[in-house]
Amino acid sequence: MAMILARKLLQRRSPQLLRWQSSFPQAAVKNDVASRASAELELPPFDYAPPPYSGPSGDEILAKRREYLSPSLFHFYKNPLNVVEGKKQYLFDEKGKRYLDAFGGIATVCCGHCHPDVVDAIINQTKRLQHSTVLYLNHAIADFAQALASKLPGNLKVVFFTNSGTEANELAIMIARLYTGCHDIISLRNAYHGNAAGTMGATAQSIWKFNVVQSGVHHVVNPDPYRGIFGSDGEKYARDVQDVINFGTSGNVAAFISEAIQGVGGIVELAPGYLPAAYSMVKKAGGLCIADEVQAGFARIGSHFWGFESHGVVPDIVTMAKGIGNGIPLGAVVTTPEIAEVLTRRCYFNTFGGNPVCTAAGLAVLKVIEKEKLQQNALLVGSYLKERLTALKDKYELIGDVRGRGLMLGVELVADRELKTPAKAETLHVMDQMKELGVLIGKGGYYGNVFRITPPLCFTKEDADFLADAMDLTLSRM
Ligand code: PMP
Repeated sequence: MAMILARKLLQRRSPQLLRWQSSFPQAAVKNDVASRASAELELPPFDYAPPPYSGPSGDEILAKRREYLSPSLFHFYKNPLNVVEGKKQYLFDEKGKRYLDAFGGIATVCCGHCHPDVVDAIINQTKRLQHSTVLYLNHAIADFAQALASKLPGNLKVVFFTNSGTEANELAIMIARLYTGCHDIISLRNAYHGNAAGTMGATAQSIWKFNVVQSGVHHVVNPDPYRGIFGSDGEKYARDVQDVINFGTSGNVAAFISEAIQGVGGIVELAPGYLPAAYSMVKKAGGLCIADEVQAGFARIGSHFWGFESHGVVPDIVTMAKGIGNGIPLGAVVTTPEIAEVLTRRCYFNTFGGNPVCTAAGLAVLKVIEKEKLQQNALLVGSYLKERLTALKDKYELIGDVRGRGLMLGVELVADRELKTPAKAETLHVMDQMKELGVLIGKGGYYGNVFRITPPLCFTKEDADFLADAMDLTLSRM
């Protein structure tokens, strides 16, 4: 009787969850496997234990946040995590518990938490000088600009530094408008490009987007191979770009902006052939092509240093942030000398964009990526992890899609594979359970049902196994 009541209650609260559960009659057997595996599941050994933490507790911090910080601030997990230390691909909470950080690589630390080379660069520069970017000469900004330009193809040789990805995209859009004399911007549905008025206008994602109306911004069909109507046929999706140019503008546009793999949008790899076709249409309409590399850049996708390279295109403007400074607020816009020239028509400057401390950090990051062969590692470990996650897809109906490249991977949960019904509640549940097992992953996607696995690039094969085992165990228990 109690079972029937519980089932009825559950059905009312989450019919999807119930439907999904009943598709696994062998749950009892799996639970048995699960309890055995639980005892064996251990994080790879790590030769560091943090000193005891004596600061305020998570509850105290949460109370202060609620009182003094924006009510829009959100946190992951039912019991939010109070992280007090980070080393390489690991984080430690207030009790000294270690977690595998499989998300922080994109948010901040491309080459690992508190990398000593980056920390040293920041400390040494801070001790010598911190100043604004404008007014005087200093070698840090020039050295980093030179090193960064050497990583980009063609004539992409002029760097403007900013403090964030939002600023970088705002500047890129402004440069495109000034250079072309046009106003219209084309961006993809499901994109995320920042949180200021212009970039919020170019952003087209449901829960992230405020209705900041920006005149002249057009959102075209997303070339999403999993959910899109044309599957993996990129050229068919690109026809919408031409339609927008023909019927939504005067025939000329200022710019087309897109990521190569949508990050916040749920690790959506643009369908092959889309970017070359779209770039060609936009160029014919006199527009510039902006590649937002805030997430996919800096060796993350493994096969290439920049995401756009995997599509065989060369943009007119590239924007970057996040991993560029391994946690230091830094962003950049790189373009050609000819396009950069437009900003000389007036006085343009950014007080802190490219300051000595941040650019010293940026240079150190580039050196670490090379020295530790992190691009090769992203390819090797990322491919291995993708194989393991794909094997989980064969085992669990709940996984609708596994995608991405290198260490930028996505796992989409669906309650029904045929209908692709987003399994949002299950996504939250799995995330929470994996955290209890010691693995932190992110989530995103149009419906918030995609795990984002984007660890620091020093992630190892053992870490990949631990993550996949923890996901396996969690799914087997559901
Ligand atoms: N572009 C992309 C692709 C992003 O993912 C983000 C941040 N999530 C931004 C731009 C904005 O960067 P920031 O938060 O540093 O302003």
